[in-house]
Amino acid sequence: MKILMVFDFDHTVVDDNSDTWVVRCLPGQTLPDSVKNSYKKGQWTKFMGQVMNYIGDQEVSPERLRSVMETIPFTAGMTDLLTFILENKSIVDCIIISDSNTMFIDWILHSAGLQTAVDQVFTNPAKFNEAGYMEVQCHHSHDCTRCPVNLCKKKVLELYLSERSDRGVEYERIFYVGDGGNDLCPTSCLRECDVVMPRKGYTLEKLLDKLQGQEDHACLRATVNAWNSGTEILQELKTSMQT
Ligand SMILES: [Mg+2]
Ligand SMILES: [Zn+2]
Repeated sequence: MKILMVFDFDHTVVDDNSDTWVVRCLPGQTLPDSVKNSYKKGQWTKFMGQVMNYIGDQEVSPERLRSVMETIPFTAGMTDLLTFILENKSIVDCIIISDSNTMFIDWILHSAGLQTAVDQVFTNPAKFNEAGYMEVQCHHSHDCTRCPVNLCKKKVLELYLSERSDRGVEYERIFYVGDGGNDLCPTSCLRECDVVMPRKGYTLEKLLDKLQGQEDHACLRATVNAWNSGTEILQELKTSMQT
């Protein structure tokens, strides 16, 4: 029997937002108002396209971009947790579902030597075009009304679980680790034996508190266990592997 670890990326694996960290590659480390004000609710990917266009216009090289992204800090205890997962790959599967992009996540995991801890990364695909500009696409399309247009994490998780099931892999327990508003939707497909781990003091924890305070919260079957650091998550994982 196997365990599945599902991680959000920004403010979960890393202790900041990779999409805003990227402006540090600019000489003034800030965006002009014309770009800042172009964001429209629910259209984050489109906004990131504009940010990356502006960065490209400033002739920031891909190498410079990469080296700046590699300085984003991991959340406390997360590299230990991912190292443990790496050492226990026969029992623990691990995926990331994130609204960042493939290049940022690959670079950051690679810089810590942890890319092989993660079996699959589900995020917005990114690549450099011929002019040296990074282009970010939507991960998929979906019909969930609760989620941003480019990504419904529940749809990703359900698809992953059914593909694994087709290959005969069933999980004894799933841990879902996240912090944000878009991490709520996928928690509704977790079972009673699963654990949702919201980061203490962040949006997901507040949303789950609210949900649990309602009389009818049938859509939340999993146990809720909040965390401050990767060390606490590691302890939960180890305990779960002993029983
Ligand atoms: Mg997050
Ligand atoms: Zn959704």
